[in-house]
Amino acid sequence: MDFDVDTAKQAIDIAKQGATTLNTAVGAVDRLKALFKSPEAPPMEEVRETITGLREQIMSAREANITLRETIGDLRDEMIELKRRQEKFAGYELWNTPCGSVVYRSAEGVEPVHHLCPSCHDAGVKTVLQGNQYVKECRATPSHGSFQFEPRGSIQRRVHGKRRY
Ligand SMILES: [Zn+2]
Repeated sequence: MDFDVDTAKQAIDIAKQGATTLNTAVGAVDRLKALFKSPEAPPMEEVRETITGLREQIMSAREANITLRETIGDLRDEMIELKRRQEKFAGYELWNTPCGSVVYRSAEGVEPVHHLCPSCHDAGVKTVLQGNQYVKECRATPSHGSFQFEPRGSIQRRVHGKRRY
């Protein structure tokens, strides 16, 4: 799973919307102040309407705040998941086997040397490839296939002038 840009964008949109609502509410408060500043009695109908509008804006801002908190929660969950995955696969690097298969290989110095299935890796699952020195396969999901490591066959043995088995 990648960092969800849409969730971040959504959070920003909600925050902007909340700021607009807040500005409108501040405007309503200013209008009320102006109404009461006048030496004459304030027009009660207008005061009532302004207060009603203000109450609606506060409710709307409160809703936006709740949605924003939820969205921030989602973002935090995504970041935790992303960090967890980065830590899980830290030290592994993409590696081309001598036969041209692409797998993830354990870091230098880690014993025993092992390899991870690239498809499982992309799905966030750590699956160590199993097999022999020539072919290894993903046993978690057989459809991920097998990976050629070292060439086997008579030509290769002749080239190197030694028998492997
Ligand atoms: Zn796999």
